[in-house]
Order: sequence, then C-alpha cells, then structure tokens
Amino acid sequence: MPNGEQTHAPQNLSAFTNTAGTYFPDTVVKAVTSAGAAIAHDMFEAHRALGSDMPLNGHGKNIPDPPFSIEDSKKLVIDAFRAFDEDLAARAEKIINDKKRCVLRDLDSLGPKDIRQMQCQPAETEDNPGTFAVVRLDYDGTINDAVYLAHEVGHAIADEMVRNAEFKHDDTKAHMHEIQSHLLQHTMYDHLSKHDDPAVRQGAEKHFALEMARYLYHLPVGLAAQDGQPEQVFSDWLGENWRDYDAASEIADKNTAAAQGDKKAQERLDDRRDFMHAHPLGAIAGLALYNHIQKTENAGKKQDVIASLMGKNGPTRITDVLDAAGVDSAAKLDALAKDTMSDIAAAIPGRKDAAFESSFIAGGNDAPETVSKNEKKGPALTARS
Ligand SMILES: [Zn+2]
Repeated sequence: MPNGEQTHAPQNLSAFTNTAGTYFPDTVVKAVTSAGAAIAHDMFEAHRALGSDMPLNGHGKNIPDPPFSIEDSKKLVIDAFRAFDEDLAARAEKIINDKKRCVLRDLDSLGPKDIRQMQCQPAETEDNPGTFAVVRLDYDGTINDAVYLAHEVGHAIADEMVRNAEFKHDDTKAHMHEIQSHLLQHTMYDHLSKHDDPAVRQGAEKHFALEMARYLYHLPVGLAAQDGQPEQVFSDWLGENWRDYDAASEIADKNTAAAQGDKKAQERLDDRRDFMHAHPLGAIAGLALYNHIQKTENAGKKQDVIASLMGKNGPTRITDVLDAAGVDSAAKLDALAKDTMSDIAAAIPGRKDAAFESSFIAGGNDAPETVSKNEKKGPALTARS
C-alpha cells in the first residue's frame, strides 16, 4: 500500500495467492461472473448456430480494414492516449520514438523460423536484464497493430511508473498488469471509433467484439482452472457442448491429469491458470475502469484513479483502484460490472446484422496465447503479454 493510506474498498477479500502473487479478490470475480454468465452462454450458442468453430482469435489480417502503416499506428496510439490523459501520451511518445524501448519489425521481413513478437518485456526480468521495459511488436499493417501497440506501450508505461516510484515489475500484483494495458487498449478503440474513415471505425468495432468475446469465453476457463471443478463451471457457463471449446477441454484434461499426480500437467495447468486468470478479468476490469474514468468529470479525481491504476505512487491492488474511483460498495461494484457487460453485449455476434456476423466468423483459429506455427499466415505469434 503506497504511503500507508487506508482504503475502504469493497473488501471481505478472500483473494487467493500463488507464486505469481495475489489474484483478483472474490468480490470482483463474483460481480463480473454474475453479470457475465448469461452473455457468455448467448455468445457460445450464437457461434454454434452459425457453424463456427470458435473463431475468437481472428485479429489482424482477418479483419478486412484498410491497411495502416506503422507510422499511422504510432501516431494513433499517441493521439488516443492524448485524448484520454496528457501525461500518458507524453510517456507513450517517448517510448514509441525510442528504438531501444520500442522494437518494431515488419512481419513480412521475418524468416520462416522467426517467432512473431507482440509483447512488452518488463525491465530487470529474465528476458530483459535492462533498466527499461522493451516493447517488441512485429506489425502486419492492420488495425491490430494500432490496438496492440497501445496495449504493449501501456505495459511499458506502467513499468516505467512503478520503477520511478522505486519498485519493480514483480512488486505489482499479478492481477494488475493486464488491467493497466487494457485500460490503454480501450483508449484506442474509443479513438478509432471516431476515425474519419468508416471502414476503420467498423474494423475497430469488430476488433473490440472479437477481443471481448474471446475474454468472455476465457473467463469461465480461468475460473474452472482455479477451483478444480471444471466440468461444472464449463457446463454452467458454456452449455452442454462445452467440450467443443478447445481451451475448456484442455483445462479439464489437465486438471484431471494433475489430480492423478502428473507433474508436467500440473506445471502446464499453473501456466494456463496464470494466463487465464490475469487476461480475461484484466480486459473486463480495464474496460470497466476506462468507462468509469471517462464519466468522471472532476479532473483531479480522474488523475487519482489513473495514478492508482498505473502504479504511479507504487504498486496497488484492484481494490485500491476501485476505492480511488469511488466504487466503494458491493452494489456499486455490481452496477459497474453490469454496465460493462452491456457495453460488451452490444458488440457481440447475434446482436448485429448478418454482414457483420459473416465477417466476424471469417476469423482464424490461431490462439494468440499459444506459440504455434501456422505456415499459411507466416510467423507464429508469441504470448501476448
Ligand atoms: Zn498484456
């Protein structure tokens, strides 16, 4: 807790911990899951009815938007951040224009053995012993570049802020990193939604829908990984055909193997659990807080929430951020979760016209969180972090 401040967050926190640190508290998980369960099931059924094989990761070239140059993407990120917060924009500009801090490569220039990079390596970690975070992004000239450059630069800014407060990456609780990056990813969707070109606006909307749909599917997978009752969680959320969803069946199998004492299965389950816990809730909480901050009229209060969320005065927990935002009761937290789900629901398949659905469904199946070779699409994607 920075500066020894007291908080009045909606606690009763029975957050569990593991080697990666403290995860989301149960209060937050409960608010998000009770608001999200019905939507997740609708989405699953909408995809099945359309004969889809869960094309939830069809970002990048699967969205037929106009080509972007990397210079376009860099400018869009800085402009998107500036529309949200001047300080974040100034930090982003410095990072993006420093070739040591932001390493950008044209995807077409990579060899067949290269792994596509789309990540931020925090300072003083195994991958990056240096004293500043490094963004590595191999761009393909799509709307995905702008969106993920915003996301990865968001991680780099959070790393810079917490280091300036004399802490390190690992001092920040595991559940916070993806909220920080998604907060800034959502500034990009908002910025692109006001773009002059209608094709860019539509492309951004599709990207948002794919992204949030993916996380709403992953949420029950993450929850099932943590509570050891995958079959029940998946059938509650995803319906009787839940085994059609690869990530769910993978988690269920690993859980079973781990319960039978398979060490490798246990390790892989732990990795998956970390990823699945941090990303879906991080994306949803990032959207909730972005919307909340945008509605905050008092400039000082807005700054306080951003500073708390980004760790400007040192590492925080989600409950500290909610407290700074005035979300100080379970009722307010539930209302925020419901508003956020309504926002997501407005963009999901089955609630849009047929043309939207058919291009939505045309997406690919390459899971971004998996290092896998896909010959047709060039270099594989590394873990997004
Ligand atoms: Zn990330």
